[in-house]
Amino acid sequence: DNHEKILFATDEKTGLKAIIGVHSTATGPGAGGCRMWSYPSSAEALEDVLRLSQGMSYKNIMAGLPIGGGKSVIMKPEGDFDRKALFEAFGRAVESLGGQYITAEDVGVSPADMMAVRSSTKNVVGLPEGQAATGDPSPVTAEGVFRGMKVCVERGLGKSDLSGVRIAVQGAAGHVGAYLCGHLANAGAELFITDINEPGLKELEAEHGAKIVGLDEIYGLDVDVFAPCALGAVINEDTIDQIQAKIIAGAANNQLKTREMGAELQKRGKIYAPDYVLNAGGIINVMSEIGIGIMGKPASDYDSGWVENKLVGLEKTLGEILDLSDKEGRPSNIIADEIARNRIEDARSGKVMEDA
Ligand code: NAD
Repeated sequence: DNHEKILFATDEKTGLKAIIGVHSTATGPGAGGCRMWSYPSSAEALEDVLRLSQGMSYKNIMAGLPIGGGKSVIMKPEGDFDRKALFEAFGRAVESLGGQYITAEDVGVSPADMMAVRSSTKNVVGLPEGQAATGDPSPVTAEGVFRGMKVCVERGLGKSDLSGVRIAVQGAAGHVGAYLCGHLANAGAELFITDINEPGLKELEAEHGAKIVGLDEIYGLDVDVFAPCALGAVINEDTIDQIQAKIIAGAANNQLKTREMGAELQKRGKIYAPDYVLNAGGIINVMSEIGIGIMGKPASDYDSGWVENKLVGLEKTLGEILDLSDKEGRPSNIIADEIARNRIEDARSGKVMEDA
C-alpha cells in the first residue's frame, strides 16, 4: 500500500528487535503506537506493522488531523530482559527517523515504557506526566462514538435522538464502554450490556438501570444498535446471522473479521459505521498532546474548541460515507478506505486538505 519507509532496528546489547512502519507523512509525521508482542517470526511482525501503520494513516486522515500514519512493533525478547534499556534502545531507533515517526503506547506497552523512550527521543506521546500529558483519551473516544451513533440512528431509524432506542454494548465496563454507557443513559436509551468484568457491569446496572446479558447473548438481542467496544473481529461468519440490530456502531478496532464482512452486513440491510472513523476521538485528543509536546505549542494551548471542531468533522465524514454507501449501493467500509486512500494521494501530490 505504498508505505513510505520500513525500519528494522536491532540492538544486540538489549535484545531489541523492532520494526517501525511509516505509511504516510503526506500530512505530517507518521503517528501511531508501539506494540510489544511475542511474534513467532519477523515475517509476522512485519505483516502486523504494515497493516497497523496503514490503518493509522487512514484513521488520521479521515479525522482531518495534521499527522500521517505509522506504527511500530517490538518482538518481545524471550526470558528475562531489562525493560528500561530495551525501550531506551527503541527510542534511539525512533530518534534515528528524525521526526518522521511519533510513537505512543499500544498493546503490551505502558506509559512508564514511554518515559524510557522519552530519554532517547522527544518524538513520543502518551506520557504519564509532564506538560504534554493529556491523560486517558477514552472520554473523547466515547464522545465521538456517541455522536456517530446518533448520525446512524437518524438515518436508520429516522429518529433525531436516542430516547427509547435499544442499544447493546459489548465491553461496557471498559474505558470507552463505561463512558459511552453514561452518554447513552443520559440520552434516554435502553441499555443491554455485557463484559467479562462482572463488578463493572453491576456498577453500570445500578447507575443506569442497564440490563446485564451473557457474553454470547449480546449478538442475538432484539435491539436497534450493536456497539462493539471490546475486541476486534466480532463481526464474523459465526456472529453475522445472529445480529438483529439494524446499526453497528462501536469503538473497537478492526470489528470486521474480513473486509468482505462489510458487504455481508450491507446485504442484510445493516448500517455499519466504519470503526476507524467512529473511534477517532482518542487520536484527536492525542493530537493536542503532539502539538504541545512535539510541535512546540505551549501547554495552555490544549484547545477544547479545536477538539470539538474535529468531533463535528467526524460526524460529517461519517454522514458522507453513509450517503455514498446508500447512493452507490456499496459497503461503507470499502467507501471509507477509498476516501482515505484518495485523501492520502491528494496530499502526496500536493493538494491541500480541506479540513486539516
Ligand atoms: P478496555 O480494555 O478498557 O475495555 C475493553 C473491555 O472489554 C474490558 O472491560 C474487558 O473486560 C471487556 N472484554 C474483554 N473480553 C471481552 C469479551 N469476550 N466479551 C465482552 N467484553 C470483553 O479498552 P478500551 O480502551 O475501552 O478500548 C475498547 C476498544 O476500543 C478496543 O478495541 C480499543 O482498541 C478501541 N479503541 C479505544 C480507544 C480509547 O481511547 N481507549 C480509542 C480507539 C479505539
